[in-house]
Amino acid sequence: MIKKIEYLIYGINYLFQTKIFRREIPFIGGLIINEKCNLKCKHCKVSNRKIPDLSYKDIERGLRIFYDKGIRSVFIEGGEPFLWKEDGRNLDDVIKLARDIGFKVVSIYTNGTFPIRTSADTVFVSLDGLKETNDELRGKIYDKVMNNIKESSHPSIMINYTINQENHQDIEKFCEEIKGIRKIKGVFFYFHTPYYGKDKLFLNLKEKRAIIKRIFNLKKKKHKILNSNACLKGVYKDKWERPSKICFVYADNKLYQCCRAYGNDDVCKNCGYLGYPEIIYILKLRPSAIYSALSYLPTN
Ligand code: SF4
Repeated sequence: MIKKIEYLIYGINYLFQTKIFRREIPFIGGLIINEKCNLKCKHCKVSNRKIPDLSYKDIERGLRIFYDKGIRSVFIEGGEPFLWKEDGRNLDDVIKLARDIGFKVVSIYTNGTFPIRTSADTVFVSLDGLKETNDELRGKIYDKVMNNIKESSHPSIMINYTINQENHQDIEKFCEEIKGIRKIKGVFFYFHTPYYGKDKLFLNLKEKRAIIKRIFNLKKKKHKILNSNACLKGVYKDKWERPSKICFVYADNKLYQCCRAYGNDDVCKNCGYLGYPEIIYILKLRPSAIYSALSYLPTN
């Protein structure tokens, strides 16, 4: 609860600075600490390109760049961030460093194949469908990931489900499946982004709109869906502004606005990373986006 209040105070101050004093301050930073991964997902070509991990010093540099820009919420991601190691240091040392620098919320994105023991405030675990579909897309890991989630004592675990041409049929049953899993706070739906061109997983806007209508139906039935109505409507109307100025990414010792695809208009036009419009609508003070954020913000 204390953490939630602290974050709300920060949010109000941020809005003062940006709306009243018209300062341009980004809101969130994504720190890609490694590209190494233990999986070979169908949709991902980032991992295992033999790009060296960021060193602890590089990580500190990236975090300080974010901090100096005014960012106070950071996502630590990979590759698979649990694989990051240096001289006896591991992911938790990176999280501690972020906190020591002054970040208020530190989140991680993981593929969930390692035990979920972490001091991060929130944990986002990727699963892309029911067992059969997920394992076809991501390798035979579904049972292990679900087990790790159920055995974790972490209080804030959420699923990231990236919808594509091969797994959209599962969304209703997946929502049913997680209903009874107490450890899962909810699911965030994203759409496949064609970073490498329009492949067979690609969904066009008409197809995405039909899926959004299905997500609205699921929300009416009180399933644990974390995408807000405001965000889903913005995506349905294809109205959210992108690329965004509120997010930065630090990877391979470079700073990128929005993400590494910045500047590729076709990719941005088809961007399915719904985490960004979610933040945009929170900052526009849309009640449903704020309400949704309160349900997944860390509590202690
Ligand atoms: S694809 Fe474009 S809009 Fe989407 S996150 Fe990357 S830069 Fe931003």
